[in-house]
Amino acid sequence: MGLASTTSQKNITLKDRQDRLQECLKTLHATVCALYMPLIPEQPIEIDANHLFSTHISQMDQLNQVLILLAVICNVVIGLSLPDCNFLMGVAILVAWLGMSASSHSKGSTLLHEFLPSQNKIIADMPKNLPDVFKKLDVDSHFYLYATCPECSYTNKAHPLKGKKMFYNYPETCNC
Ligand SMILES: [Zn+2]
Repeated sequence: MGLASTTSQKNITLKDRQDRLQECLKTLHATVCALYMPLIPEQPIEIDANHLFSTHISQMDQLNQVLILLAVICNVVIGLSLPDCNFLMGVAILVAWLGMSASSHSKGSTLLHEFLPSQNKIIADMPKNLPDVFKKLDVDSHFYLYATCPECSYTNKAHPLKGKKMFYNYPETCNC
């Protein structure tokens, strides 16, 4: 009896197991729907979303709004990594800084320019890096760097070097 039962268990094909799993998921879905049904309102709910339109960014200088837009597009839309975005933002900030220094009275752009108080305010409000951008957008974000194994695609977490928060130690082996 025991032997027969073991043999029949071995004969269960992958298809049978998939069918059983799908059946379990359907039952689970039906149970969850039945549980949540009393909580679903019959009429539309009014939600005050005005706070979404009065963010800190709308009061920022347009130059800094463009810097924020650049960072968000590079990271969220194009999919560039954190170091790539930080590099591009650093270059964009440098270009903006030099552009602001090139007034009609100067011979050209220079980093030694003495800015007006209004310009210093714009510079102080500039987002310094990608985490800073998300902070200005009131988005609670944390960035963790990972190294992807070329063999198995497993992601291994990188750790910041002691005393050098900007530099990371990436695992050399994956144990796969
Ligand atoms: Zn691996």
